[in-house]
Amino acid sequence: MQEDNYRHKGMRRIMVEELRNKGIKDENVLTAINNVPRHVFLDSSFLEFAYQDKAFPIGSGQTISHPYTVAFQSSLLDIKKNMKVLEIGTGSGYQACVLAEMGAKVFSIERQRKLYMKTKALLSELNSRIKTFLGDGNKGLPTYGPFDRILITAAAPEIPQTLIEQLKVGGMIVIPLCENEDHQTMLRLTKQEDGSLLREEYGDFKFVPMLKGLGED
Ligand code: SAH
Repeated sequence: MQEDNYRHKGMRRIMVEELRNKGIKDENVLTAINNVPRHVFLDSSFLEFAYQDKAFPIGSGQTISHPYTVAFQSSLLDIKKNMKVLEIGTGSGYQACVLAEMGAKVFSIERQRKLYMKTKALLSELNSRIKTFLGDGNKGLPTYGPFDRILITAAAPEIPQTLIEQLKVGGMIVIPLCENEDHQTMLRLTKQEDGSLLREEYGDFKFVPMLKGLGED
C-alpha cells in the first residue's frame, strides 16, 4: 500500500479548505475527509491528482467520485455513530471509508467482480471493518437490513423500491436520480411512519450509471 506522508497530509488539508469554500459545512465530514488518505484508493500514477477536486478512473470503466460529491452525499446522510449504512457502488472504497471514519457501520455492494476483489483486498490492508459484497445493489442486502441510511453512488434510473423496503422508518436514502443521460438530481428521501417518502432535492450531479445484474469483469 502507498505510504501517507506529510506531503499527502498537507495536500489533504488544502483540499478540505477547498471543500469548505465550496460550501461543505459538516465538520464531521470534513474531519473524516482530512483523515482518509484518498491517494491510496487511486493507482500511484494518479498521486499528483488525488487531492484535486476531480473524479478519476479506477478500472472496469468506473470512476472514484469527486471529493466534493463524496463530501456532499456524506453531509446529506447526517451520519451518527454506529448507524447501519448501506452503500450501492463500492468502487474504489473511498466513500465507504469516509462513512466508516464518521462512525458508521458500513455495508457496501459492487457489481464488478475485479473492482470488488481489488477493493476488498485494499480495505483489509487498511484494517477496515467495512463489509463488502459482490452483487446487484438493486436487491440490497435483505438479511443485513433494515438500514438507518442508504447511499447510492451511481446514477439511478428510478427509485429502487426494494431498497426503500430495507430502510428503517425515519431512515434516509440519498440517490442521484436520472433526469436525462447527462445529469442527475440529487435526492434525499426520508421514510415516514406510513411508509411514504419525504422528498428533498439538492441540485445536479454527474455519476456513472447504476446498472442491473453483475458486471462482465
Ligand atoms: N463510491 C465509489 C464510487 C464508484 S462509481 C467510490 O467511492 O469510489 C459507482 C460504482 O457503482 C461503480 O463501481 C459501479 O460498478 C457500481 N455500480 C453500478 N451499478 C451497480 C449496481 N446495480 N450494484 C452495485 N454496484 C453498482
